[in-house]
Amino acid sequence: MPKHKKKYAVAPSAPLTAQERVSRYMRGNKGKHTQPELLLRRALWQNGLRGYRLHWKQLPGKPDVCYPGRRLAIFVHGCFWHRCPHCQPALPKTNVEFWTEKFTRNQQRDRQHREKLKAAGWQVLVIWACQLQQDLEGCLLTVKALHAGVPESYWLEAA
Ligand SMILES: [Zn+2]
Repeated sequence: MPKHKKKYAVAPSAPLTAQERVSRYMRGNKGKHTQPELLLRRALWQNGLRGYRLHWKQLPGKPDVCYPGRRLAIFVHGCFWHRCPHCQPALPKTNVEFWTEKFTRNQQRDRQHREKLKAAGWQVLVIWACQLQQDLEGCLLTVKALHAGVPESYWLEAA
C-alpha cells in the first residue's frame, strides 16, 4: 500500500467513528470497484460495450475502465475526493488546511493523468459519481459516442 494512503486513516479529526472513517477511506479516490464504478461497468456490459480493461497499469492514472483498441480511457471520479464541479460537495469543517491541500493534490494528479493520456493519443472521459446516479443513460450515450468515434484504422494500429 502506497504511503500516502495511510494518512487518510489518521489525519482527519472530523467527528467520525473509526468505522465511518474507514468506509469513507474505502470509497476514496484510489478505491477500486466502487459502487459508481460497478454501476457503470454493469451498464456497459449490458449495452454490449464489452472488451474493456479495468485499472490498466500500463496507463497513466490506471483509468477505472479503458478500451485499449479504441484508445478510450474512462475515469469514474468520486465527487468528494476529486472535487466534483457539478455537485460541489462541501469541504470538511475541520482540518481545512489539510483537506484543501489533499484535494489540490488529487486534482493536480488527475489533470496530469489526463494530459499524459491525451498526449499519447487517448480519448479521456471523466464521469462523476453524481452523473452516474442522476443520468446513467446520458453517461452511457457519451461512452458509446466516444467508443464509436475512433476509426477502425486506428483500432488496427493500436492492437
Ligand atoms: Zn458530483
